[in-house]
Amino acid sequence: MRTTGYGSHGVSAAVALVNAATGEGGDASAEALRRLLRENGFFWHEFEDAEAEDFRRWGRVLRPFFEAPRLQDATALLNRLMLEIPMHPHLSDHEPHGLHMHYAPPSSRLLDRFRATTLMNLAELVVEYGLGRTGVCAAAGCDRVYADTSRAGRRRFCSEGCANRTNVAAFRARRRT
Ligand SMILES: [Zn+2]
Ligand SMILES: [Zn+2]
Repeated sequence: MRTTGYGSHGVSAAVALVNAATGEGGDASAEALRRLLRENGFFWHEFEDAEAEDFRRWGRVLRPFFEAPRLQDATALLNRLMLEIPMHPHLSDHEPHGLHMHYAPPSSRLLDRFRATTLMNLAELVVEYGLGRTGVCAAAGCDRVYADTSRAGRRRFCSEGCANRTNVAAFRARRRT
């Protein structure tokens, strides 16, 4: 699996949605959701403001995946959701990915395509890495989630900001002792 390629766009979209809908200071307004869809390669122009709450709900549904203490909790959640969300594999050939798999046909609505893609990309990540690539930010006081699709895979923070803040605090603590 190319974790840094196409299969990761559902993963980064899931992270962005969970943080928007459940993270402290998250912006899950219709405008922010539209931007999130655009930035993650979804057909954002099909988004309608009336669907915003359905998207937010999906963010709340996915959060426990990132908080799952054990692999079996995460897989149980994903398995349950894969039964609930309508999924129909569909081959699509478009730029920039060439021929690849979609998990819902173009005739299904954006919300269903979004749910199917985020779900399957998270499932693929778990198959490849277990829970080693996802979690809640390790910075004190931050409740945002992250997913690491880089080759190194050593990420523990939601952002550079949280990583730097934590490193600086650790450095000061070491200097005091
Ligand atoms: Zn596609
Ligand atoms: Zn953070």
